[in-house]
Amino acid sequence: MSRAFNFCAGPAALPEAVLQQAQADLVDWQRRGCSIMEMSHRGADFVAIAERAEQDLRDLLAIPDNYKVLFLQGGATQQFAQVPMNLLGGKASADYICTGVWSEKAIAEAKKFAQVNVAATDVANHFRAVPDVSTWQLDNHAAYLHYTPNETIHGVEFDFIPSVDVPLVADYSSSILSEPLDVSKFGLIYAGAQKNIGPAGIVVVIVREDLLGRYAAGMPTIMDYAVAAKNGSMYNTPPTYSWYLSGLVFQWLKAQGGLEAIAALNARKAAKLYGAIDASGFYANPVAIANRSRMNVPFTLADARLEATFLQEAEAQHLLNLAGHRSVGGMRASIYNAVPEAAVDALIDFMADFERRHG
Ligand SMILES: *Cc1c(COP(=O)(O)O)cnc(C)c1O
Repeated sequence: MSRAFNFCAGPAALPEAVLQQAQADLVDWQRRGCSIMEMSHRGADFVAIAERAEQDLRDLLAIPDNYKVLFLQGGATQQFAQVPMNLLGGKASADYICTGVWSEKAIAEAKKFAQVNVAATDVANHFRAVPDVSTWQLDNHAAYLHYTPNETIHGVEFDFIPSVDVPLVADYSSSILSEPLDVSKFGLIYAGAQKNIGPAGIVVVIVREDLLGRYAAGMPTIMDYAVAAKNGSMYNTPPTYSWYLSGLVFQWLKAQGGLEAIAALNARKAAKLYGAIDASGFYANPVAIANRSRMNVPFTLADARLEATFLQEAEAQHLLNLAGHRSVGGMRASIYNAVPEAAVDALIDFMADFERRHG
């Protein structure tokens, strides 16, 4: 067996050590005679797995005690609705910052529940930068401000945490756990697991306790954060196997030295790849330097007709999933926590060789 280098944007690469652990545990977990997938979520074994995962996540992010951690289903996309449903609290409007496709989707969904004020958007600039804060048209009466710290498709990342008077809500799906984070600055953070946490099927929500229970009457029980919190994310059957695998990733992150260590590695990986792109006359990345994503690196080739050849040759060298998102085209290398530095080195070597032969 040989593992390829996988640059998929999501579901994304998982640490090989985690997959091996899962394989060893798969059929007969700790001599219980069954797999984790076949256990009651209310049994002592699974409850211990779930609690350890939460504690490890709390340790990694230094999550303050007045925040609940929820493990839910429905992905980040469900949060586009669940956030306004839970956080409007009788207010009519919410502020959104628009820096790419995922912001746009969050905004479109929120419009079903709230008057959405797009306080700033980079759409006219084709989503290549975070709009300067001095231009933001914030509303002091907004229920919250929502933004997307890392736009997975356009490769645009905030280089700061906005400072606002209303609760701050962030879709951290593609950059959570990539560096240390001051959770106390946020009202709510959510992140679909399949980029930087674990497999698809689970979404992590970190919410400040005072924001729970603010919803209007009539909300479906399953959408209520307060119900999920009260029931330890087990109001109904949770995605037990995804929860377990996410827990293994948290353990792996701790073993790597935690988020300080992983952040240094991520910075080095990104600097190398952007450096190679910028040094060539053949590859280009259009994003403002300060807002270049450390996780998702889109790039174009000088001649777009070479794209299919580039992808074919890359795949032949076990460099997988380098096509850009279908909405923007070009190439994209996603270099999340679990993508090793050796993968970035191999990609850079391949890109240089490709340029020599085709440039
Ligand atoms: C992938 C992604 C989503 C959508 O996630 P799903 O789990 O498929 O709903 C939302 N926001 C961001 C920033 C993403 O990267």
